[in-house]
Amino acid sequence: RVAARTIGLEKVYGRGEAAVRALAGVTLDIHAGRFTAIMGPSGSGKSTLMHCLAGLDSATAGRVLLGDTDLTAMGDRQLTTVRRDRIGFVFQAFNLLPQLTAQENILLPLELAGRRPDQSWLDQVVDVLGLRQRLRHRPSELSGGQQQRVAVARALVTRPDVVFADEPTGNLDSRSGNELLGFLRRSVHDYGQTIVMVTHDPVAASYADRVVLLADGALAGDIYRPTPDTVL
Ligand code: ADP
Ligand code: ADP
Repeated sequence: RVAARTIGLEKVYGRGEAAVRALAGVTLDIHAGRFTAIMGPSGSGKSTLMHCLAGLDSATAGRVLLGDTDLTAMGDRQLTTVRRDRIGFVFQAFNLLPQLTAQENILLPLELAGRRPDQSWLDQVVDVLGLRQRLRHRPSELSGGQQQRVAVARALVTRPDVVFADEPTGNLDSRSGNELLGFLRRSVHDYGQTIVMVTHDPVAASYADRVVLLADGALAGDIYRPTPDTVL
């Protein structure tokens, strides 16, 4: 099953002499229930590709589909709804709201969507991420690893079709980073979550089922790994 797809996706920033072609016709399927890593040199278009897939940035040409939904046919309001209801996003800088507790941060996407928490799912996410004893803490009272786990819980709480993670371990020490990657991998294999992660770290990419390589805005490689569960 295909969770998301780009067809001939092009993205040009700016105009005229200042124009930068960030994506030069990318056609890519993202498989549901798989952990896909996007790698490539700085400036190769990784973030742009992920932002287009997540409805955060618009295509210049080509199409972006989330399931059967054509994001390129949508206006801003519809995109906001799709992002809210069907997409989770984990940022390198965590992006937690400092005045809210961990629990309030985690529940925020549901609140914005006017949805009630599924208590048993919430309990699973909180326990698996080891956040039970930290729910009343504010971000400033948590370690970097804990803050990022709160950000992951917040991305998972709505049970989105796809979770996008932009260098999620970039601000973590290697132990916290590996714990987080192990969790992301388990959420794919135990709960069928679809995850797309941008990283430049080969160790982080080794947790994925598939590595898509970009160079100069085009696909330069696509490597599937047999899924050795020894990584867990
Ligand atoms: P990566 O994530 O692989 O580092 P990006 O997708 O961030 O690559 O950038 C791809 C290209 O597009 C780069 O040349 C970058 O400078 C350019 N770019 C990205 N965002 C913008 C923007 N908002 N305005 C102009 N150029 C941009
Ligand atoms: P980790 O092992 O996740 O990297 P740390 O070694 O940074 O965690 O932190 C160890 C413990 O100290 C954690 O349980 C964390 O909740 C707590 N802690 C870390 N930073 C702070 C802080 N600024 N204020 C209060 N508690 C903190």
